[in-house]
Amino acid sequence: MSDHNDNYAIIYDLHSHTTASDGRLTPQELVHRAHEMRVGTLAITDHDSVAAIPAAQAEIARAGLPLTLITGVEISTVWENHEIHIVGLNIDIDHPQMTGFLAEQKERRQQRAKLIAERLERAHVPGAWEGALALADGGAVTRGHFARFLVEAGKASNMADVFKKYLARGKTGYVPPQWCTIDQAIDVIHHSGGKAVLAHPGRYDLSAKWLKRLLAYFTECGGDAMEVAQCQQAPHERAQLATYARQYGLLGSQGSDFHQPCPWIELGRKLWLPAGVEGVWQTWEQPQNNL
Ligand code: AMP
Ligand code: MN
Ligand code: MN
Ligand code: MN
Repeated sequence: MSDHNDNYAIIYDLHSHTTASDGRLTPQELVHRAHEMRVGTLAITDHDSVAAIPAAQAEIARAGLPLTLITGVEISTVWENHEIHIVGLNIDIDHPQMTGFLAEQKERRQQRAKLIAERLERAHVPGAWEGALALADGGAVTRGHFARFLVEAGKASNMADVFKKYLARGKTGYVPPQWCTIDQAIDVIHHSGGKAVLAHPGRYDLSAKWLKRLLAYFTECGGDAMEVAQCQQAPHERAQLATYARQYGLLGSQGSDFHQPCPWIELGRKLWLPAGVEGVWQTWEQPQNNL
């Protein structure tokens, strides 16, 4: 297993964030870091935004980086009261259905952020709206921005803590989301020419029974792939997700979900698919013979 990420393999990292949502690196900084980490194919998948893609493409061309950029997005959906993230890969970012849809999601984000700020205000935390918006700096405003604001205001010591105290489901600042449905997300991804990937299936706190229900529903809606490999993951979790991918006939994807430099998560780190799971990238790299 030692040679999974050797010098000769192309490393695919198909899930990452920039300052266009709650990532801390600019699109330019992100593509350089991906190259330094020997990533050969990178997807930028900001929360409900494709705003980083043109700047990233321009920087790759300007600097002559040997890096393939996959246009991506991470769409927030709601299913059975759970927030489920669907990644779209290789989408046409200018497709009218996609741009219209992302405008709606942005509006939903703004509305939710206002309600979160109102709730925090009532809990004697003033200034959260201005604070989170300033941190988002024109990009998609997320709970990640509220978390940073609260930590910087001294309300909690770290991000995990602040979610537990204020932002997780049922806590003071939690507002049930009005996101689109899974089938709407898959539909807009397909219409804009992309593949729909169920993001980080292990991170929804679902029992095995509910996770299988989610996988069955996602497959029934025409979903193409599921994330199987992430860098922070127990070996048995990857094996389990690979088993599900085979059972449900889904392709596999892999991604760091990189948000910022930190000791635990890095672009391209430990990303490989177990045997018997086909990478979602095969669908866009193999010549199509059925034309
Ligand atoms: P939103 O899409 O606005 O609900 O924000 C979700 C984002 O908040 C995620 O993409 C993560 O970046 C961040 N997040 C969610 N839960 C946690 C947590 N427990 N600790 C740290 N960050 C979190
Ligand atoms: Mn995030
Ligand atoms: Mn996510
Ligand atoms: Mn993500």
